[in-house]
Amino acid sequence: MALNYFRILFSSKKTFILLIKGDVSMNISKKLSFIFIFIFPFVFSFSTGVCAQAELVQLSNGESMSSQDLFSLAVALEKKYPTLIYVDIIGYSVDQKPLYSIIMTADVDTLRRQKDFNILRQHYFVEAGTHARETVNPLIVMKQIEDYAIDYHQENHIQEFSLSQMLEEVAIHFLPLTNPDGFDLVKFGEASVQTQHGRKLLLSVGDDHYTNFKSGISGVDHNRNYPQHYFDMDENIWKNIWQLNISNLHATSPSAEFYPGPHPASEPEVKTVMNYILRYDFRNYISFHSRGNVLYWNKYFAPDYYNQRSKTLAQTIQIANGYELMDEDNGLGSGYLSDFTSSETLKPLITVETLPISTDLPTQAHLYPTAYEANRLVPLYAISEGQKTGYFPYRLYVDDVYVRDFENLTYANAIAQKYNGKIVEGDATPSMFLNKKKRTHSIYEFLIKHLPLI
Ligand SMILES: [Zn+2]
Repeated sequence: MALNYFRILFSSKKTFILLIKGDVSMNISKKLSFIFIFIFPFVFSFSTGVCAQAELVQLSNGESMSSQDLFSLAVALEKKYPTLIYVDIIGYSVDQKPLYSIIMTADVDTLRRQKDFNILRQHYFVEAGTHARETVNPLIVMKQIEDYAIDYHQENHIQEFSLSQMLEEVAIHFLPLTNPDGFDLVKFGEASVQTQHGRKLLLSVGDDHYTNFKSGISGVDHNRNYPQHYFDMDENIWKNIWQLNISNLHATSPSAEFYPGPHPASEPEVKTVMNYILRYDFRNYISFHSRGNVLYWNKYFAPDYYNQRSKTLAQTIQIANGYELMDEDNGLGSGYLSDFTSSETLKPLITVETLPISTDLPTQAHLYPTAYEANRLVPLYAISEGQKTGYFPYRLYVDDVYVRDFENLTYANAIAQKYNGKIVEGDATPSMFLNKKKRTHSIYEFLIKHLPLI
């Protein structure tokens, strides 16, 4: 609104400047009408906060938006909330479209540059858009970001949580669209592919029903492409179970869905997300998919304590969206994002399947608002659960830098061996650098040993 008035003012700039300088001979009524039409609404729009309230994310536009539109929206949100939002380009898709995270925390621009950002805030992960045709979720995530930013500045925009408090303690990392090529393909067809390499790969896929694609344009289903090694605590060895127990939802060549790729992490999008997951000490993970209105939480290969925490997190998220918990994991199918996160970090990931099972994909415009309303608070409930849990005692350090914590010493040691790191026991918030911690620790030990009565 303010911009429109600026444009009008600029278009009549000469008149405006002359009026201000008093060089235009206007009678009083003309002057008053000028002020009423141009100046008053402009000032009024600021004083009533209309400008501040104009929301950037419009769910009603969702159906027609491209990956480029979503990226522009992310940049616009960053511009509007520079102290709260930072857009980090973390890689590029097969078709050279940007992959990015949107980091949200108080004082983001200062904090993200700090060497100990990993412990200055607790970190949380929210991902969407892995599967091409599940088009509602990227915009749901964008709207969450905007709503949380509004609540940060304007208490009670969200009744259930106080973002101004929460964002002093946590950083939320949103990856709204991790398969931009597929997203554009289902909406705009093959014309959306912008590189020759991309077009060549798409032609090699045996299926041209593009609106039905879950894969990227190379015909690999990203949610079958994640590596799947886990540490078997009974046998005391790492096991590679990638594509070992396949279900009937499987393809052996590039396809619209279910093809896991020639080898784990063959896709640049998958590699980018994997690197990002290992970059921060995420306390838990949310991954948005469609459809079914259900929550997946169970991992058949994971230790009991993982599954207990994961179920508790799913139950907490259920408070937000009322979705049903899917308790069964039959162990068929592999290469999921959740397989990678659970075996690498032992922190729970909940897959949230938005929209009823019977709806068409890609998602039609009228379903965006209801899908959003149900899931608006999902990340905030997940964060509240993570904050309740706190840090675990076994901390992994690689090159004397803190990486993440583990609940179980055996698994912690197995991970430490894998990354040539070491495990340090502790409570409360971990120290970021081991030498500092050692020094503090040794002074403490010295005092206890030599001055026991203090
Ligand atoms: Zn999916």
